[in-house]
Amino acid sequence: MKLTMNNGVEMPALGFGVFQTPPDVTSASVAEALTVGYRLIDTAASYFNEREVGEGIRRSGLDRSEVFIETKVWISDYGYDETLHAFDKSAGKLGVDQIDLLLLHQPLPTRFDRTVEAYRALETLLADGRVRAIGVSNFMPDMLADLLDRSTVVPAVNQVEVHPYFTNDLVRAYGAEHGIATEAWSPIAQGQVLGDPVVKRIAEVSGRTPAQVVLRWHIQRGDIVFPKSVTPQRVKENFEVFDFTLDDADMNALSALDKGEAGRTGPNPDDFDYIPD
Ligand code: NDP
Repeated sequence: MKLTMNNGVEMPALGFGVFQTPPDVTSASVAEALTVGYRLIDTAASYFNEREVGEGIRRSGLDRSEVFIETKVWISDYGYDETLHAFDKSAGKLGVDQIDLLLLHQPLPTRFDRTVEAYRALETLLADGRVRAIGVSNFMPDMLADLLDRSTVVPAVNQVEVHPYFTNDLVRAYGAEHGIATEAWSPIAQGQVLGDPVVKRIAEVSGRTPAQVVLRWHIQRGDIVFPKSVTPQRVKENFEVFDFTLDDADMNALSALDKGEAGRTGPNPDDFDYIPD
């Protein structure tokens, strides 16, 4: 299943994440995922495994054009020239000429000017055809509004934490209003939602696993997801979510698990204050 981003480029709705996947298992893990059928890989400069992601893609034997590669610029590379150079570093490690989707990993609320300069570099890379789409990650609505005021290309995506314990609907609604697709990171809350009684009940009734139920909930909400696993059986399990449907009652029951801010597994983006000087 594919989604069309605001610039007309298509991307798979379900992909494979590699955050915290150790470099020595990344290429085998990525190759395994591609064998199962995944065609989107989400990595980042700060995951220190871009080189191994590239190796895994080549090892799969698939043509470069068949795999959608997404990576992120880390904050220490923000600034116009620095971010252009960050593209070269990432593309070099991945072993590709063009990156499908390049994101700013997170905003620097205390140095937003530098964040905007980094985004300007993404706009240049897009205009030059070095990337097919650009976006952001961990941006709150006020940060998105500020960015939209000071840039010309509307981000194709905003990658933020979303799962049943943190439905993040305010950020998702802002994105929907402005044509920015939501990518849900930590879609199964790093496993924390899988033991929830509501998730387990829906899984039992539908004859699916808890992870499949939660991933299906994301897909039906229209978000893009890329669960991470280094376990072959789970990699396969997480991909088998397109042959069943959750009804409205199940969707609502899962959404009702939202705990607001208390449900986050990661920090609130308003609290990022690292200054890379
Ligand atoms: P996930 O919600 O994908 O959970 C991954 C964890 O759940 C791992 O411990 C994995 O274990 C386990 N798991 C995976 N599948 C199953 C299953 N079917 N049953 C039981 N347990 C399972 O967490 P992530 O934080 O990795 O998020 C996914 C991706 O989102 C990342 O890999 C990254 O690409 C992106 N991300 C982006 C962030 C950002 O700031 N932009 C922040 C965090 C994530 P095991 O591997 O041992 O099988």
